[in-house]
Amino acid sequence: MPRWSGETVWSARAALDHLLGPAVIGADPTDIADVDRRMELTCRHNWFAKAAIEMACWDLAGKAAGKPVYELLGGPARPLSVRCRFSMGAYDPDRSRNRARELVEEGFTTIKVKVGGPAEKDLERVRIVREVIGPDLDIVIDANCGWDVDTAIHCVNAMEPLRLSLVEQPTPDGDFSGIARLRSLTKPPVMADDMCFDLIDAEELVRHQGCDVISVYPGKNGGIGRSKQIVEFAGRNGIACSIGSNLEWDVGTAAMAHLVVGCPNMQVEKFPGAMLGPEYHEVRVVKNPISIAGPIVTITDRPGLGVDVDWDVVKSHRIEA
Ligand SMILES: [Mg+2]
Repeated sequence: MPRWSGETVWSARAALDHLLGPAVIGADPTDIADVDRRMELTCRHNWFAKAAIEMACWDLAGKAAGKPVYELLGGPARPLSVRCRFSMGAYDPDRSRNRARELVEEGFTTIKVKVGGPAEKDLERVRIVREVIGPDLDIVIDANCGWDVDTAIHCVNAMEPLRLSLVEQPTPDGDFSGIARLRSLTKPPVMADDMCFDLIDAEELVRHQGCDVISVYPGKNGGIGRSKQIVEFAGRNGIACSIGSNLEWDVGTAAMAHLVVGCPNMQVEKFPGAMLGPEYHEVRVVKNPISIAGPIVTITDRPGLGVDVDWDVVKSHRIEA
């Protein structure tokens, strides 16, 4: 999403057609470090576009070895079924109340509420969700960089009676000392998401003691290999990771799920993540969609990413550059 990462479907397509694609022609797709190096030499950032090629290489490498990608990442660290949280928009009070009720009925035990707007409205929304879901389920908030640091500190402390399990990206992108100040003045664990694209961002978060958890995912972080690097670096520094999402379709979601299963420090049991993207789309883009039942997402042990693209569906949704 342009406002989120700066990339667009059109810019990704142009980067793939004119820069990244030509750069990897002739490379060995199972030498993923080389593919990554070639892409890095062509352009900075463009993480989602780069991830498309990188994830495809993991799929090929897995198929060539006859192994699921999570095996290539080190073997399963957890079951192939993973419980997710639901992310609820910054709705008005009535819609928030109804949506929260529906989510409890669907079996969600962690509900993320979007905030980051006017403080009073955010407070009211979170208060309503707590009222509806009762005392036992978990509430996470995500401000998506929408608050300034002082507003974020005020809001998180004002929400203290509502018992937040996690506070996601409460402060602006790039402000490592700001998020550290918030963390030192508030109680719930803090997750960095929109400000952590690469390993250097993760290193800055650690240096500033800015977070307890990092949200990682192959699209945002430029591929499965780069995500794994961040997850392992975080683990060595006592920081948990969980899976985030930009509402990916089945291919991206499969990559996310393999990362979760293959990396011990993807602590989704303690900090449930988001892998429900395919549910947001009207059609599925693979012949064998990932199983999504309420909050439970399940992948298979088939080789590669375990999904086969349905090219007829892809063609009917192709965007002309
Ligand atoms: Mg987020």
